[in-house]
Amino acid sequence: MQLIDGTYQYSGGVDTLSIAEKYGCPVYVYDFDIIKKQYNRLHSAFEGIPVKFNYACKALTNINILRLIKSLGAGLDAVSVQEVKLGLRAGFDPNEILYTPNCVSIEEMTEVVGLGVKVNVDNISMLEQFGQHFEGYPLCLRINPHIMAGGNSKISTGHIDSKFGISFHQLPLVERIIKATGIKVEGLHMHTGSEILDAEVFLRGAEILLGTASSFPDLEYVDFGSGFKVPYKENDIETDIEDLGEKIGERFKEFCKSYGKELTLKFEPGKYLVSESGTFLTKVNVIKQTTSTIFAGVDSGLNHLIRPMFYDSYHKMINVSRPEGKSRIYTVVGYICETDTFGINRKINEIQEGDVLAMMNAGAYCYSMSSNYNSRYRPAEVLIYNGQDHLIRKREVFDDLLRNQVELEF
Ligand SMILES: *Cc1c(COP(=O)(O)O)cnc(C)c1O
Repeated sequence: MQLIDGTYQYSGGVDTLSIAEKYGCPVYVYDFDIIKKQYNRLHSAFEGIPVKFNYACKALTNINILRLIKSLGAGLDAVSVQEVKLGLRAGFDPNEILYTPNCVSIEEMTEVVGLGVKVNVDNISMLEQFGQHFEGYPLCLRINPHIMAGGNSKISTGHIDSKFGISFHQLPLVERIIKATGIKVEGLHMHTGSEILDAEVFLRGAEILLGTASSFPDLEYVDFGSGFKVPYKENDIETDIEDLGEKIGERFKEFCKSYGKELTLKFEPGKYLVSESGTFLTKVNVIKQTTSTIFAGVDSGLNHLIRPMFYDSYHKMINVSRPEGKSRIYTVVGYICETDTFGINRKINEIQEGDVLAMMNAGAYCYSMSSNYNSRYRPAEVLIYNGQDHLIRKREVFDDLLRNQVELEF
């Protein structure tokens, strides 16, 4: 969304306020051109390297988004059997889907193996069971390189106390199990957590993973997960993708030479592909002035966008209704009966009740984390594609709240 000639617009000149009017607030809007731009930038950064990007779809799972991301040439990273099924429904080949679950049952694993997708195993117990149940089915191992990285402890997954992955200290045991069961390991994987700021951190993890590779003679690919950071505010740090591409690309080529085989380098971007494509349009219901604060209360809350309350994450806010004018300081809150603050002391163009407030970077982990808390409806989703707006998910209605409830007669 950009300010052009005094109005906020999406790609192709689609007017933001018209979208808010046409579909009503609150509404999520995704601009496909931005997803495409991000994908192409990633791809160019690794030019000359056999690279594959698997979209980590837990960030945003609308089926149309999956189809469009597939059309760009991406594969899919799925963390549940349900995401696997969405991916298959969107047209991904089973071979293009890597299933990376955590603490799932052998029953779910069995179902996924039945669908023929690639699987990533992240604990020793599953590895042993895998050998017994699925002889000859190739798999990927999620290794925990024990690196503390990420924006905060909730999204950091690679450190020593994390529940994710098989510790690289346990590799001797892994090797014994593989020998005993004849399991074929075709991929090694790590995902150290979100928001990695520095190519050096990536490289440190990469060295640990590549250092283990010589113990696995059947590798086809090495997967470095994700952690690509996007800017959430002005002058915010972002991952320097071009620098990362150059450094990792070079190291990977060197590695393939010593391994004696050209492998595929894989990544699993979620946030990087979809975060900036999304805006969440809300309407300001109430302006409430106290002795110290001006609150702007919007027609949404932690039921629709929980990241600020859950992770203390920052979403920039723009008064779409008043592109020009004086700014004032607002604390923006939701309508949920619970403290649900979107942002404290934000400089926003003077708000009047009824104005449309856009929350930026609302493509990743926003709709996909939404709920019906307070018995509110989940919002609609709209896609901007080729200069046109398309409804891609209807707003919920009252029947949705009762859909799976069993009403008894007393
Ligand atoms: C969530 C997740 C990702 C994506 O992380 P982003 O920070 O959104 O890019 C990648 N890989 C795995 C295994 C994940 O669980």
